[in-house]
Amino acid sequence: MSIDFSQDMQAPLITPGLTPADEHEISLRPKRLYEYNGQDKVKENLSVYIEAARRRNESLDHVLLYGPPGLGKTTLAGVIANEMGVNIRITSGPAIEKAGDLAALLTNLGEGDILFIDEIHRLNTAVEEILYPAMEDFAIDIIVGKGPSANSIRLDLPRFTLIGATTRAGQLSAPLRDRFGVTFRLELYTPQELSRIITRSANLMGMEIQAEGAMEIASRSRGTPRIANRMLRRVRDFAQIFYEGVITKDAADHALSRLEVDHLGLDPTDRRMLGAIIHNYGGGPVGLETLAATIGEEAITLEDVYEPYLMQIGFLTRTPRGRCVTRLAYDHLHIPTEGNEQLTF
Ligand code: ADP
Repeated sequence: MSIDFSQDMQAPLITPGLTPADEHEISLRPKRLYEYNGQDKVKENLSVYIEAARRRNESLDHVLLYGPPGLGKTTLAGVIANEMGVNIRITSGPAIEKAGDLAALLTNLGEGDILFIDEIHRLNTAVEEILYPAMEDFAIDIIVGKGPSANSIRLDLPRFTLIGATTRAGQLSAPLRDRFGVTFRLELYTPQELSRIITRSANLMGMEIQAEGAMEIASRSRGTPRIANRMLRRVRDFAQIFYEGVITKDAADHALSRLEVDHLGLDPTDRRMLGAIIHNYGGGPVGLETLAATIGEEAITLEDVYEPYLMQIGFLTRTPRGRCVTRLAYDHLHIPTEGNEQLTF
């Protein structure tokens, strides 16, 4: 029997990018390295590179940050700018349409400034080609005039730092990837780290929060600070109405249960995705595109937003033949595994 899972409601909490509601996120962003929780390995190395560059009075090497959305790539770029004491210009791959757009951005940078390009894997080829000499030689070649009288002029640029962010390092062209001196992979956060982030955010929002309340939100935010902060905002509403303004474990549980986020942080889309693999494809393997079509989601959203966490908690595996669910997922969804011969645990 085939079940259509595409009718269920869309998940509001776990969207990949910034939404208008996240605007006040800006004020929750840590500004200095000591305020930036978690990612200890990245921070340790980064602080050495920053200190060394500062002592030499040089700009920092170009940095590539990669990892799932909401883990703090943009925030970290801002932190680096603050630690280096330089300005940062923020843009994104799809926003730079023409080579001229990038040339304008680059020529407006000051010495040592940072250019942050989010979703750098989505730069078009013409733009990317301008970036190569800019990153390597701090210069760009501009064509002036048309036809036989066209001339190429080399423009020198200040020694800037490019920070690129991507959810998919594999999609970056090799020449671009090779021009980054430093590459950092951001990992999903542990509940302890998220609980510190939530407590800090609650304090900034002027809310009283209990340790158990912070932990309850943390363990349901699927390793992602952006989701943790979003949940905190919803929990705050419930706390104000029902729990005398204090974020307790009960307040967190009450709010998150209402939002259909279970105690592991799975939302209706996760459950639809796992349910579809189990009911429609005997537990897998099933190809990503087929799965996405079955549940009416974009393949890229499933891959970037949902899968990293489901794999981290051991509910999903990727095999060359497609996605498979594990016994843990069956148990979590209370679906019996007996009689299902296709299972390949
Ligand atoms: P990305 O660029 O990877 O999508 P962002 O940098 O926009 O993610 O981070 C999303 C939000 O999560 C930020 O606004 C910030 O408030 C919070 N955040 C991210 N990383 C951290 C961190 N390490 N410590 C504290 N807050 C963080």
